Amino acid sequence: MCGIVGYVGSRTAVPVLMDGLKRLEYRGYDSAGIAALEDGQIRVHRRAGKLRELEDSLHGQEFEGTIGLGHTRWATHGRPNEINAHPQRDSSGQVVVVHNGIVENYREIRDRLLGLGFEFRSETDTEVISQLIALHLREADDLHEAVRRSLRELSGAYAIAVMWAGDPDAIVVARVASP
Ligand code: GLU
Repeated sequence: MCGIVGYVGSRTAVPVLMDGLKRLEYRGYDSAGIAALEDGQIRVHRRAGKLRELEDSLHGQEFEGTIGLGHTRWATHGRPNEINAHPQRDSSGQVVVVHNGIVENYREIRDRLLGLGFEFRSETDTEVISQLIALHLREADDLHEAVRRSLRELSGAYAIAVMWAGDPDAIVVARVASP
């Protein structure tokens, strides 16, 4: 069972996210990661293994963003390594997603997106969500609407949190069925 944490506010996001992930640690996980938005860029940091390793690897790096996402992963699609850890990004790195659950039709969506020129880096079903939202952002121009349009195409039971470099004030969350 993975854990999802999101923060948007006036404090520096990363310590809040790490604290939240530690509280969810009891649920079990195989890898972890965080993302924070600063100066229009989303920085992502991930590690296989325990939160301690993620925390150690962050040491000495200044994260100042006040909006971010955190995740502890329990792999269902793809090995428990750094590339498959969340947050997952679209090809441009502008959209990041953390996800609990399964996207059942991810293969067909992936094939369609590959045909449109999207490139995939991970083995996860989650990366499909970030790329699909990026596709819809070309027309929606609004994260909330792009997520809504994307969810109409996904089947499965899942929870997600999404952040976009184009909107420094919003995290969009959604839950479908059980998670
Ligand atoms: N299906 C996703 C993955 O394998 C999410 C797994 C989870 O719930 O942690 O990355």
